[in-house]
Amino acid sequence: MSRRIVLLPGDGVGPEVTAAARLVLEEAARRHDVALAFEEHPFGGAAIDAAGDPFPDETRAACLQAEAVFLGAVGGPKWDGAPRRPEAGLLALREALGVFANLRPMRVLPGMETLGPLKPEIARGADILIVRELTGGAYFGRREEGRARARDEIVYAREEVERVARVAFEAARGRRGRVASVDKANVLATSRLWRAAASELHEREYPDVALEHVLVDAMAMKLVLAPASFDVILTENMFGDILSDEASVIAGSIGLSPSASLGGAVGLYEPIHGSAPDIAGQDKANPAGAILSAAMLARFSLGTEHMARDIEQAVEEAIASGARTADLGGTLGCRAFTQAVLERLG
Ligand code: ATP
Ligand code: MG
Repeated sequence: MSRRIVLLPGDGVGPEVTAAARLVLEEAARRHDVALAFEEHPFGGAAIDAAGDPFPDETRAACLQAEAVFLGAVGGPKWDGAPRRPEAGLLALREALGVFANLRPMRVLPGMETLGPLKPEIARGADILIVRELTGGAYFGRREEGRARARDEIVYAREEVERVARVAFEAARGRRGRVASVDKANVLATSRLWRAAASELHEREYPDVALEHVLVDAMAMKLVLAPASFDVILTENMFGDILSDEASVIAGSIGLSPSASLGGAVGLYEPIHGSAPDIAGQDKANPAGAILSAAMLARFSLGTEHMARDIEQAVEEAIASGARTADLGGTLGCRAFTQAVLERLG
């Protein structure tokens, strides 16, 4: 039976990088004898233009029935100040899919050590997966606005910690078997719950994984001093927001970074970059982040680890052999780079 994948190309460079990811997934699936059925649906600004709604009902129904949803990017100057914003569709999509764990891998690829802001000898070999809690904590707590006094509340239930910690431990088993759990347990009550819940789950079900606890301020330092010393980093919502941006710049270009949002029945996959309106429609976008998001789809939604590895290796080999888009200092367009990846599959 074919496995259904819904593509939401979205806006700006979204359609270009989505087309690239689809070509690579199709070819990888063919080589691994996996039958995939793709459907494209309107989403974001494109859907506002077509249907007056960034997340139309038909798109919602298709997403809920799929095995995985792949998103290009949404938004752009055209819809800034519009009554319905494309980004509202994205929040509604995440909510509809119930994705409470956001996974952002950051790898410094061989030969790319000089691209980011760190010294090459420090950046070399960095290969981190950040698992960020996405639906709790300060961003979802009660809020009191005020000019003289304001208040934001952080609440975590044990169950919310356990379910995202489980995602981190499972991911670690498929990687180098190590989790660094980030908190501020010397100050915050929610962090002490976080630490206890993660530790107890670890003892009970994941004794084979190595777990350490790192205070968030120390982690902010260690990420730039020794990024290669971490495997999986598990963190609550706000700390994860901050640390994942810090980590993503280490790789060098925003065009390289993929993401997955998991936890519901259907996974959501998207490159971390935005719609990049300045280069849209010009065949200039780096599709690597999208293609690597497709690899995550293969790993987490299809359960085809070999296929995921093949895709990642093809991207790595293409870049190592000199295939580079403009953001990496090269001359290839989006399509030519995708071709270079396709040639190295399998
Ligand atoms: P958003 O608010 O959706 O995050 P943004 O405008 O903040 O969007 P991006 O759309 O990601 O951010 O663009 C930021 C810069 O990075 C732009 O100059 C853009 O051209 C560049 N950029 C983004 N994605 C890519 C890509 N895939 N390849 C090359 N350059 C990119
Ligand atoms: Mg932005």
